[in-house]
Formats: sequence, structure tokens, C-alpha cells
Amino acid sequence: MRRAVVLPDNGAMHPSPILHCNRCGAAVVQRVPEGDSHPRAVCPACTHIQYENPRNIVGTLPVWDGRVLLCRRAIEPRYGLWTLPAGFMELGETTDQGALRETREEAGVDVELEGLYCVANVRPVSQVYLLYRARIVQPSWQPGIETLEAALFAPDQVPWDQIAFRTVHETLRRYFAQSADGRFTLQTFDVD
Ligand SMILES: [Zn+2]
Repeated sequence: MRRAVVLPDNGAMHPSPILHCNRCGAAVVQRVPEGDSHPRAVCPACTHIQYENPRNIVGTLPVWDGRVLLCRRAIEPRYGLWTLPAGFMELGETTDQGALRETREEAGVDVELEGLYCVANVRPVSQVYLLYRARIVQPSWQPGIETLEAALFAPDQVPWDQIAFRTVHETLRRYFAQSADGRFTLQTFDVD
């Protein structure tokens, strides 16, 4: 029988923030369970294993008349910088539903999805972005509390040095490059 390997505290590539068992509350240890390949938060008291996996961030590129609606963040991190409406997917919703919900919550705008545009891996924080192209139904919006203001930007108006996240910067750059002839193809890239 193969013995589980006990890793040092700093042995994991992505150290888990889990400290306590969510079943019994005992302090967990980080180790690779038998037959597994990654260190997990294992409870020595009740043997429960808490798995952690990458999180999906869903959102849209809301477009009106060739311009993209960006939101200026009213929250940390990156307060005051511009981003696309996007956020963590909720349990029990589809990626489409999550993208529409985040767009309504952050930009306060109604959109129709036009297809998945970007799948981006952000490995240092174990996040996967799924961003859809979206057509703004009516050019009016009412940003939510997480947004200072929202505005439409043509490519030559985008505040490129004030974009909150590299994923969003890269998505916008690729979108505007493809918008010249209107032929959009799914973009996949990694941000390390
Ligand atoms: Zn436990």
C-alpha cells in the first residue's frame, strides 16, 4: 500500500488557505491522499478531504456601435481602474446566466450574448475567465454599487494604462484588432 506523502507547509505550488475542516472544525493538514496527485486539506480527526479547484469568472464585452462598455471599479482590488463587467460564477447557474447577471449587477445594462469570445487561464490565482461578446440592447445603463461609472470606448479612447486586469487588457486588445473586419474567433490565452 502506497503511503501518503506529507508535504512541508510551503511545498504546494498553490498553498491552500483552508485551515479548518468544514465538517468538524479540526485543524487540517496538507497532504497528498492515497491515490491522489495533489496536496489537499485533509482532516486528521474525521478524514474529510476538502478539495479546492480553480474558480470561473464570467462576464461580457458589452458592445454598442463598435464601442465597448467599461466599468470603473468602486471596490478593491484595483479601485478606480477600468474593467469589463465580470465576476465569480455562482453555484447552480450556467456560464451564460452568470455573464448576464454580472453585466446587470456591475454595469446595469441589458445585453444579448453573441457567443463566447475568450477563455483565459490565470494560473497564479487559479482562475479561468469566460468572457462573451454581447450586444447592448438599449444604450443606457445604471452601474451598481461596485462600479463608479460606466462608459463606452472606441479603441482609440480606451484608457489602456488604466485597465484593472491583464486578462481584460488582452481581451480588449484582441477584440478591437478583430473588430476591424468583424470576424471574431474564440480567443484562448494564459496570463502568468
Ligand atoms: Zn473533520
